[in-house]
Amino acid sequence: MAETRSFQAEVSRLLDIVAHSLYSDKKVFLRELISNASDACDRRRYQALTEPLLGAPDGKYRVVLKPDQAAKTLTILDNGIGMTEDELIENLGTIARSGTAAFLKNLDGDAKRDVSQIGQFGVGFYSAFMVADRVTVVSRKAGHAQAHQWESDGKGEFTVTPVETAEVGTRITLHLKEDEQDYMLPARLKHVVKTYADHIALPIVLDEDGKEEALNSASALWTRSKSEVTPEQSTEFYRQVAHAYDEPWLTLHYKAEGVIEYTSMLFVPGSKPFDLFDPARKHAVRLYVRRVFVTDDCAELIPAYLRFLKGVIDSEDLPLNISRETLQANPLIAKIRHGVTKRVLGELAKKATDAPEEYAKFWENFGAVLKEGLYEEFEQRDALLGLARFRSTGADGLTSLEDYVGRMKPGQTAIYTITADTPEAALRSPQLEGFRAKGIEVLLLTDPVDEFWLPMVAKFKEHEFRSVTRGGADLGTIESGDKDAPKQDEAPVPAGTGDLIALLKLTLGQAVKDVRSTDRLTESAVCLVADEGDMDMHLARLLKQHKQLGEESKRVLEVNPHHPLIVRLAERLGQGGTGPALEDAAWLLLDQARIVEGEALPDPVAFAKRLASCLERGLAA
Ligand code: ADP
Ligand code: MG
Repeated sequence: MAETRSFQAEVSRLLDIVAHSLYSDKKVFLRELISNASDACDRRRYQALTEPLLGAPDGKYRVVLKPDQAAKTLTILDNGIGMTEDELIENLGTIARSGTAAFLKNLDGDAKRDVSQIGQFGVGFYSAFMVADRVTVVSRKAGHAQAHQWESDGKGEFTVTPVETAEVGTRITLHLKEDEQDYMLPARLKHVVKTYADHIALPIVLDEDGKEEALNSASALWTRSKSEVTPEQSTEFYRQVAHAYDEPWLTLHYKAEGVIEYTSMLFVPGSKPFDLFDPARKHAVRLYVRRVFVTDDCAELIPAYLRFLKGVIDSEDLPLNISRETLQANPLIAKIRHGVTKRVLGELAKKATDAPEEYAKFWENFGAVLKEGLYEEFEQRDALLGLARFRSTGADGLTSLEDYVGRMKPGQTAIYTITADTPEAALRSPQLEGFRAKGIEVLLLTDPVDEFWLPMVAKFKEHEFRSVTRGGADLGTIESGDKDAPKQDEAPVPAGTGDLIALLKLTLGQAVKDVRSTDRLTESAVCLVADEGDMDMHLARLLKQHKQLGEESKRVLEVNPHHPLIVRLAERLGQGGTGPALEDAAWLLLDQARIVEGEALPDPVAFAKRLASCLERGLAA
């Protein structure tokens, strides 16, 4: 009995876009389907290690492409793990993975370009509808007697029917669209397989009316020596394992020999994957043991801060017949992880020195992820600090810490930093004024992760990291090195400043932690800073946004004693004593500092009233 079901709404939308896509490179559908078939075979082979009865009777796995000129169909058939009825419905009717929403949003743009990313979003199967107006899937799961047929024209609904079939595995029949019937031509199929699937470690066979021909060499690409792998093969392999369509930025193909033996073929993608900041922080490096695929979900294999790596690691030493869970805990995994980490960081360091511009591209894509290692992996901290790059007030482009230290002023011991949402916001901060006037370089940190590693790392070599938005930024002790620089901070603090500060403290009361005179400002009258030892203001804001922080600690209002407004207020206080005008001014100064920090005012109505009466007094005078 056929049962009709509706696609999940997202799938319907996706299918509609896919079916009407103008994307010209439709042959990618074959890569997606072959890749699924190959995964299914890997999984069955792995399962047979512990349950031999579930494996293929002859132990051989393969994918067959079977065109049928009369029926105008192309069938892709595998003897992999197969799917149960529930799995057919789940896998081919819904979108399981997070991030699909992002993909759909992407598609609203340039539909031509974006469809090409289909595989990356874990929805590769649906690409079949680029070339077919009807798709029939017959599947029987290993260990199950009953097979099921899934069928759909991609227009909102699909049917699932119990059917009989002798073989375990999956058979996907594409009823080719009128203008896509090229995909029945053997020459066309051979060509596509050559470009897309030559590296697949599984035989891909063309079946022409019962006559079979192997289309690929079916040897795992990574087991060949480096010189035997062409750049094209390597790129295609990357694209398949990474579900990517770009060029790899870096390829690391090597064999580790010695105490532990493994081959690895790893890639750093050329562009940023959409799910890089998924909270699960999962990597996608596939683990093989002596050419047998084991899992792509071994968290211990690759540190989370290298999760941008794609590719395979094939171990010679790990036992095959243990469960994935036991595998995680195997000490050999930790050894491989260590070896791979060292190797990858070493290669990155080489790139950073030899090709700084290329490295800058890598850093833009993955720097924020790599920095997670600064607080997660003490052992690699120095290596990671060496690899880190920053925007800075003292250099165009990106700078390293080594270079920053080389430019430090006489008397400067700390590395000054400011954290903000964007470099532009950082540059607008009044706290930078004094540093700018003295020509002291400040690193602009704009990744959320910066708030976490900075307090943990604390130092680069002997130099402390210090935020300019904190109290105690000791500008006075640093020489500007520039004789013509304004010596404002050395000018005596005007008389009356002390009284004004006392008045501000009294008026603002609990709204601030303290009010102080500062030499860090040159243009602004006031700014807010976090007190020494308190949480950085940007971090506090970040946590508040994510509802991770109940009560923010109070800030210090710093006052520039040389600013004409402050000078005027101090004089006024000396002449006439306190009054409503000075009180209004006190609150306006605080609100002004809040606005510059990009904060919402706690009482905008009061602010507007004070501003109005202040202007009124000004006009009356
Ligand atoms: P992905 O491969 O990224 O998971 P797809 O849309 O390509 O996304 O496939 C969805 C799911 O359908 C797969 O994860 C797999 O569970 C199942 N599937 C697809 N093709 C096959 C197949 N030939 N044999 C067994 N399962 C399959
Ligand atoms: Mg797939």
